[in-house]
Amino acid sequence: MTSVPVPFDGHALSPETTAFLGQTHRLLINGEWVDGSGDMETRDPATGLALTRFHIGGVAEVDHAVKAARAAFEGPWGRMTVADRTAMLHKLARVMDANATLLTELDIIDNGMPRFIAGLTTANCVEMIDYYAGAVMRIEGTTIAPPRHIAAETEALTYTLREPVGVAAQIVPWNVPLSTAILKLAPALAAGCTVIVKPSEETPLSVLALGQMILDAGLPAGVVNIINGVGAQAGQALAEHPGVDKISFTGSTATGKRIIQAALGNLKKVSLELGGKSPVVVMPDADLSIAIPGVALATFFLQGQNCMAGTRIFAHAAIHDELMEGLAAFAGGMTLGHGLDPATVQGPMISDAHSAKVMGYIDGAKAQGLTLVAGGQKLDRPGNFIQPTIFTGCDNAMPIMREEIFGPVMAVQKIETDDLDAIAALANDTPYGLSGSVWTRDLSTAHRLVKRIRSGHVSINCHGAVGTNIPFGGYGQSGWGREFGQEGLDAYLETKAVTARL
Ligand code: NDP
Repeated sequence: MTSVPVPFDGHALSPETTAFLGQTHRLLINGEWVDGSGDMETRDPATGLALTRFHIGGVAEVDHAVKAARAAFEGPWGRMTVADRTAMLHKLARVMDANATLLTELDIIDNGMPRFIAGLTTANCVEMIDYYAGAVMRIEGTTIAPPRHIAAETEALTYTLREPVGVAAQIVPWNVPLSTAILKLAPALAAGCTVIVKPSEETPLSVLALGQMILDAGLPAGVVNIINGVGAQAGQALAEHPGVDKISFTGSTATGKRIIQAALGNLKKVSLELGGKSPVVVMPDADLSIAIPGVALATFFLQGQNCMAGTRIFAHAAIHDELMEGLAAFAGGMTLGHGLDPATVQGPMISDAHSAKVMGYIDGAKAQGLTLVAGGQKLDRPGNFIQPTIFTGCDNAMPIMREEIFGPVMAVQKIETDDLDAIAALANDTPYGLSGSVWTRDLSTAHRLVKRIRSGHVSINCHGAVGTNIPFGGYGQSGWGREFGQEGLDAYLETKAVTARL
């Protein structure tokens, strides 16, 4: 029998988070919290209980926010010295650091992620603001030889300027809410852009708390605007708006394609970080003492609601059985529970609908007769907790190996060959190309295989080794462009070439 849910499974929240939940959550437009055109409720996915309500906006609110962002771009933010912009971003990082408990707890209760992950992502967000604050003063052009037809006549000077793209819209999904907002906001602000952020309706809270911190850090009105709302309305309105110069989106490939179509009207610059179905190749000489936990977490980290999850495992026949035994033991030992519980390593699925989608893949694989190595059940308790699940006997043509499940579901295919071209052909047999990993003690094998895998981010003897300064993005239908590092900043800069007759 399903037990009655208890708020936060009986775990305490800090006073600041409790106070935040009691506030009214409006839209942030032009430096002020304003009413939306409706409201919605957000829930704790670990219990299903309501957390609070929040205002949402549509076409009119988006238009208001775009105008505010334009005025700030042409006004105080655009005119600010780079030294002041740097200082202001460092100040924001300090304000966030001082409020780290609030930001961390909001992502735990709104998204369901375990505390150790939420704490890490909050710390990474602070680091990322500092990183891009430091990059502001390193935005540099170059001097270039002037064109022949002018240089032949007179002395001349040719140089480039790096200028902000303008008003940027940033559409953020629910799986790592604060972090995905910051990895878009930080480089945009560093570049000198102004922004409108649309969080997911599933997880609006940490970005709303961030909004107050942005005001407290003293960023001018209109530099950052926050519009919660339904994707098909507020998100679509942002993607279509002629006053938006650039759109950055993280989410599903299907929605990414809709964003491109909506952005056509004024040919916005578009950055997309989309889905993945990343390959994990375990060779016969892999060190299984690191491969077993590493491969397990490649799939199960963030309950598999993770774009870079390694969910297609190509296990060499020589180690297949030992690997399966180790992975089954690891999966069986993972503690599922409320993210506020320090013992929790895996939380719930974000929603009933998403849980049903994930269970559909599990039930489909069972019906297909695939070998269930671990898990396969939804827990009989409030919230949508799905056991870490492993199927072997898969092949690359099956839906479980082809489609992004976005849940704790690992699909394993046994491979007999040592031929690196054949292995890479299997790994590359996917529309996606976001991440991947290779597990072997042989450096030559590792680097030769990495070179053959068509993906934006491949790790050796680890998986998903992302970092603030490391470019991240996809080949194929996993997206356009790169985030993080210098390339993340370049995505918000235009290059202007200037030639002067002297
Ligand atoms: P979506 O791609 O539909 O949503 C992501 C974001 O886009 C949300 O903020 C959403 O708003 C917004 N959005 C939705 N429709 C539009 C639109 N027409 N125009 C502009 N913005 C829009 O993902 P889902 O949440 O529906 O998840 C479905 C699948 O997507 C998952 O199962 C997973 O496979 C994949 N996904 C991948 C992610 C990644 O990191 N690459 C992240 C999230 C999902 P709102 O939520 O308010 O509707």
